[in-house]
Amino acid sequence: TETVLEVDGLVKHYHVRGRGQVVRAVDGVSLSIGPGEVLGLVGESGSGKSTIGKCVLRLTEPTAGSVRLGDRDITHLSRRELRPLRRDVHMVFQDPYSSLNPRFTVGQIVAEPLRRHGVARGAQVTERVREMLERVGLGAEMRTRRPHELSGGQRQRVGLARALILEPKLVVADEPVSALDVSVQASVLNLVADLQRDMGFSCLFITHDLSVVEFLADRIAVMYLGQIVETGPTKKIFAEPQHPYTQALLSAAPEPDPVRQRARKRVVLTGEVPSPVDPPAGCRFHTRCPVAVDTCRTVEPALTGVREADRPVACHLVTSSEIPDITERD
Ligand code: SF4
Ligand code: MG
Repeated sequence: TETVLEVDGLVKHYHVRGRGQVVRAVDGVSLSIGPGEVLGLVGESGSGKSTIGKCVLRLTEPTAGSVRLGDRDITHLSRRELRPLRRDVHMVFQDPYSSLNPRFTVGQIVAEPLRRHGVARGAQVTERVREMLERVGLGAEMRTRRPHELSGGQRQRVGLARALILEPKLVVADEPVSALDVSVQASVLNLVADLQRDMGFSCLFITHDLSVVEFLADRIAVMYLGQIVETGPTKKIFAEPQHPYTQALLSAAPEPDPVRQRARKRVVLTGEVPSPVDPPAGCRFHTRCPVAVDTCRTVEPALTGVREADRPVACHLVTSSEIPDITERD
């Protein structure tokens, strides 16, 4: 089948200098994204999700495993070999403040990818920048402004315009709304959804907030300590999360619908996320899992779609018997 992005067995370990320690940021992650598909990659900070985004963009080199864009294996390409592929993959950063160069105008910032890849010149550039600004809801008068004159939401729209002006096949969005006021988050998310539908790009949407991807992502992958613990179609994950960690994330997310709020399982996690320097043996979640059994402390559960082929889960209780009932309802 046709894929836009295929990540296979990805591992990224960092060595902590002078300490002989290894941070296992990503530890054997496989995922794929089809044409026009949005995958929400969800996890707490330190779960390795941003590292995956960086490996996909080859901003960092994987320790093992492979990354394919379309039919190209990009895992070991040189900078020069990567350059033409940079047209097809773009990133929207978490922080619209530091990712826009304050010395340039909005027009120059949005035009930069066109110039770098030599795909437009002169009046063509001006026209495409004007069009792109309009698509992200900014007027042509914005062209002469500089980043410090803009609001957070406006800056993120400029970041989107810059990421999309080359009509990339894949957009990696790393927490694009988390730095914004709650009041403007929804409008930026709606804009991303509209642009995605109109332009048809595939998207790896990275977030710590599960509720952010409910209406944006076709599929979701939940990460914990460098590994995917559950993945599947968004509707199924929200309707019936199977991994205890996914259940906990969902029960922490705000739910405006009182009926759904009442039906939702309440799972409260205790304890801190363990360090990725020395992740727990067996199931990495066992130190915080409310239903852990002895096996969990020694045997690592595999991510397998025993119950349903399209939604693999890595949990002994899910793969061996019934879905664990770890809930309290009020
Ligand atoms: Fe909890 Fe065990 Fe399942 Fe891990 S394998 S999530 S510790 S029940
Ligand atoms: Mg991050």
